[in-house]
Amino acid sequence: MVIKPKIRGFICTNAHPVGCAEGVKEQIDYVKSQGELDARPKNVLVIGCSTGYGLASRITSAFGAGAKTLGICFEKEPTERKTGTAGWYNTAAFHQEAQEAGLYAKTINGDAFSNEIKEKTIELIKQDLGQIDLIIYSLASPRRTDPNTGETYVSTLKPIGGTYTTKTFDTNKKLVHDVTLEPASDEDIANTVKVMGGEDWELWISALNQAGVLADNCRTTAYTYIGKELTWPIYGHATIGKAKEDLDRASATLNSQYKDVNLKAYVTSLKAVVTQASSAIPVMPLYISLMYQVMKDEACHEGVIEQIYGLFNNLLLSDNPPVDDEKRLRMDTVETNDEIQNKIKAIWSKVNTENFPELGDYTGYHLDFLKLFGFGYENVNYDEDISPIANW
Ligand code: NAD
Repeated sequence: MVIKPKIRGFICTNAHPVGCAEGVKEQIDYVKSQGELDARPKNVLVIGCSTGYGLASRITSAFGAGAKTLGICFEKEPTERKTGTAGWYNTAAFHQEAQEAGLYAKTINGDAFSNEIKEKTIELIKQDLGQIDLIIYSLASPRRTDPNTGETYVSTLKPIGGTYTTKTFDTNKKLVHDVTLEPASDEDIANTVKVMGGEDWELWISALNQAGVLADNCRTTAYTYIGKELTWPIYGHATIGKAKEDLDRASATLNSQYKDVNLKAYVTSLKAVVTQASSAIPVMPLYISLMYQVMKDEACHEGVIEQIYGLFNNLLLSDNPPVDDEKRLRMDTVETNDEIQNKIKAIWSKVNTENFPELGDYTGYHLDFLKLFGFGYENVNYDEDISPIANW
């Protein structure tokens, strides 16, 4: 099969196995170039391990610390006629690289919100690893079925309190235009908290603790995005921001509830990057393109792997890492500092369809977007007829 990108709106509906493997290799090479981490977790569970920040966390654990990794993801397997999802191919490539490096890696593909997958995970930990000393919670999902009631909740990306009009970039029509977003109802807010809030993180830790597979001094983190004025109306102060506030509640609860095993739970705020999750959020493609331009001009641009390696090396595994007022770890301080934000705001007020290619780094944004699905790598031959099948 010759595989070319099939882009529909903010998503690409296919993926390239060789390109995805190239992306995984690039991240591994970056981690190896940085050297081994000082503090090294031994057995790491990554919930949401196949793309974005979760994949980078798995790669950093394995190739920066030599850790055994157990990953959980929800990806589509390829068939002879249809490609798998990028996360499937990333996972296959990660397994291949881990095996060559002599590193333990297993992945469970299924719904992390379900009791069944939690039970399977615990079985596997008992069988292979004994205990876990680091748990990364990196799920991004538009829906969640409550494992106890069977009810499915759908999250929304809506402002709170009133309609909000802002600029956005239509990645299909290549137009910068105003968009008016309708406000969330109370139900929208509650549902988004149910999907992307801290409840499932707490359920995971509770299940692992009850099974006796949490190592003493285990660490866990869930990822958040805080942002600043330009993104607050659609993110920080919107439905998804309410869900992220619930993570702060959950981390405080976890820290007090599991004191006996010395669990340390943190919410980590990361910078905005191009991932499948962020491309689906209105306004983010425009904001990220302008932010990339400013941060590249200022030579302080970072992608997923730089952020996660920095987090593991400087904060997450340290004894008493610096935290903000909400006790969060912050990897986003360069993006959110006033100097960078003022530069983004200055171009935000001027940007339109005509000047966007000069003012913003849409080329960089789009290349990162293609790479999420294994496209856009110079050293991959996209005319080659290849098998879409890849296994782990
Ligand atoms: P992503 O879409 O790249 O990754 C999501 C992961 O979750 C994938 O591994 C997917 O397989 C898994 N997943 C989704 N639903 C699942 C389910 N039901 N069961 C099992 N696995 C499931 O997203 P991302 O951008 O890396 O986001 C990860 C976290 O980082 C989120 O909490 C997000 O809010 C946060 N974050 C993202 C950004 C950003 O700019 N992308 C910035 C800061 C924080």
